[in-house]
Amino acid sequence: MTCFKLPKSLYKRIQSALTRFWWDSKHGIKKMCWVTWNQLTCSKKDGGLGFGDIESFNDALLAKISWNLGKAIGNGESTNIWYDSWLSSTEPLTPTGPPTEASKDLKVSDLIEEQSKDWNTDKINELFPDLLSTIKAIKPSKTLVCDSHIWLATKSGNYSTKTGYHLSVIDKARPTTREPNSTSFCWNSLVWQGNFSPKMKTFLWKIIKGALPTGENLSKRGFQAAGPCLRCGEMETAEHLFLHCSYTKKIWDLLPFSMNPRISDRQSFIAGLQAGHRAVCLPPTGITSGPLFPWVCWQIWRACNALSFEIRISEEETMIKAIVSARDWQTAQIKVDTKGSTSGKVLHSLPTDTVEIFSDAAWKEDLRASGSEWIINRNSSTIHQGSDFNGNVSSPLVGEALAVRSALEHAARLGFTKISLKSDCQTLINAITRKESIKECFGILGDIENLISQFQFVFFSLVSRTANSLAVSLAKNALACTPTSL
Ligand SMILES: [Zn+2]
Repeated sequence: MTCFKLPKSLYKRIQSALTRFWWDSKHGIKKMCWVTWNQLTCSKKDGGLGFGDIESFNDALLAKISWNLGKAIGNGESTNIWYDSWLSSTEPLTPTGPPTEASKDLKVSDLIEEQSKDWNTDKINELFPDLLSTIKAIKPSKTLVCDSHIWLATKSGNYSTKTGYHLSVIDKARPTTREPNSTSFCWNSLVWQGNFSPKMKTFLWKIIKGALPTGENLSKRGFQAAGPCLRCGEMETAEHLFLHCSYTKKIWDLLPFSMNPRISDRQSFIAGLQAGHRAVCLPPTGITSGPLFPWVCWQIWRACNALSFEIRISEEETMIKAIVSARDWQTAQIKVDTKGSTSGKVLHSLPTDTVEIFSDAAWKEDLRASGSEWIINRNSSTIHQGSDFNGNVSSPLVGEALAVRSALEHAARLGFTKISLKSDCQTLINAITRKESIKECFGILGDIENLISQFQFVFFSLVSRTANSLAVSLAKNALACTPTSL
């Protein structure tokens, strides 16, 4: 597929195989396809399942050949200064040549000082003085992370055919069902990235896309007997089933929520899901993270299916099953990796001698500079703090990454082995804990990963800007005091 355009008949056969695989539970038994192929191929954030539309995918692969790949700088050793695109993380930029005979084989590492692992200003000025500030905004790795190929069209820089593919598929599919209007509904935060099991995610997707065999959906497809709720006789819509039936109402009232997701009698499922996302589950349920809402819907659905076999499950029982299944899943998510650093989201207590580190950065666009600050606390009192100033910083995110790298370097140097690091930068925390790449911070993130491996225990978490306020104000001071040291 990378080199040849496939015949149309073959696309159709691959498509059909994918569709059957998704909807049929057993080989050979055909089930109803509830959602059209064009909708399945939409990206997940647009409410599809991100299935490959084979023809578009083929086009994307073909186009890939001509796309430019860039290089992200770690130690600079595998990147040629003239022929690789390394000057920008968004467009294919190389220095304007022609190279001299003496410089044609130079690598980016030849522009980096061996001791400081920072740029050799004299050498850069000698070769291309006009590029000094562009080059200084690239932060090479201090821990010898290797250079990497990046794809210039994504934020992560990960090499993928996805972006091109989405451009090609977007005109083909426009949602047709009664759906959340896509501008206000965030598929990613409410469904795909929710802190609940993949099964719950698909289940929510089916409810929203009208792909769950509720009475309403079945009767729309010509099942005459279907329609009314088995409990009360009203039309069995998703709203009725999951929010408004008297049976369901009682469950929502029983649950120990800080706010009831069932706000009014005419509320839509989407509004219920959004309210459920914000609701906090009060003790003593033991639900420490993630919404309970999908689990409750799932158990309501199971109770409804059981009822069609005349098995009655009480409201209390359904509620307890929802809490237990949510708690079991959340407990299973606590993962300690081989190095002993914990990156799981659910954590009940930290090891006793863990120190807390708050880090923050303040960035000034006009100076293209950032101030970093870190504070190390033990038992809530500050035992160390420090700050530094960085020039040639291209974005606030790079500033935050530099602040975390400095904080880790200092904590390691001071001999701490167990740390809990808090930052208010979500993108960065996600990148570190999920090992996602961000191409503009490539070298710094590589260093952070190497530094983490030196600790016995590391826990990263997001902290609100107000809770991090001391570090925030100190970072601003670091920025305000030091421009002279540029
Ligand atoms: Zn009912």
